[in-house]
Amino acid sequence: MSISVKILGSNAASFAYNRHHTSQIIEVDNKHFMVDCGESTQLQAKKYNVKLSKINHILISHLHGDHYYGLLGLLSTMQLYGRKQALSLIGPPGLSEIITIQLKHSKTVFNFPIELTEWKEGVQELLVDLPKLTIKSIPMKHSIPCAGFLFEEKPNFRRINKDYLTETLNPLEIKQLKSGIDVLHEDGSTKYSNEKFTFPPKKHHSYAFCSDTKYDEELIKWIRGVDLLYHEATFMDEMKERAYLTFHTTAKQAGCIATAARVGKLTIGHFSTRYKDLSPLLREVKTEFENAHLALEGRIFEINE
Ligand SMILES: [Zn+2]
Ligand SMILES: [Zn+2]
Repeated sequence: MSISVKILGSNAASFAYNRHHTSQIIEVDNKHFMVDCGESTQLQAKKYNVKLSKINHILISHLHGDHYYGLLGLLSTMQLYGRKQALSLIGPPGLSEIITIQLKHSKTVFNFPIELTEWKEGVQELLVDLPKLTIKSIPMKHSIPCAGFLFEEKPNFRRINKDYLTETLNPLEIKQLKSGIDVLHEDGSTKYSNEKFTFPPKKHHSYAFCSDTKYDEELIKWIRGVDLLYHEATFMDEMKERAYLTFHTTAKQAGCIATAARVGKLTIGHFSTRYKDLSPLLREVKTEFENAHLALEGRIFEINE
């Protein structure tokens, strides 16, 4: 399996230089998840060939407008497109109230069920549990309740080495071997040794989306060893005082977090509108973590090695 992350927007606060607000599409095992839905996400989705009908989960990191002002518009478009299948909407405390009020005053009733889950602030929770994937919240330190999201493929089974097998295995024996258990004769002696007859499982992948947050070393324990980390990098380090006061992170700090957490690859986003040219942010993050990239719109990050 693999995880792919498509960037639809990664700008902070307001639009600038044709850059749009935060939204991403994460694809795992042919399932599509939207993370954040800033204003203009619909247009960006159309531009980058995202099929709204394929999205069955939308996760919102927090209630600052640059992360969710596109949500009601997107839901309305799903309705206009004739959506019938349920949508899982996962967001911060208060999201349910906001949606209810908007729908009430516009006398709108959606033709598809919305299963709304509000995560709890400051703790890690299991939010989505699918056969091959889990999504957990990651506590962020921001000026209002805020969460990131950890996408983790479930561990794979061991793989049968058919070259070694001369006999046919029954389904129970295959299951035992794939689970890492030896198959035994009735007298307790080993019939098929798991070590001999199986290969190690394929690597399972992980992606951490870290939304708006101040520099926070406590984050490291939640994201340790992920294959890909998205971390906000709103400012250059020369503005770290402002970053601290506004509960944001600098490019250098994002690189420090990636290094300390020993992640495989880092992509930074949530760029301040003060930066027309983003290359200084990239240069700065690379001083701390070499395998760093800008989360530019339309870019796709694949995790499959
Ligand atoms: Zn923001
Ligand atoms: Zn924010």
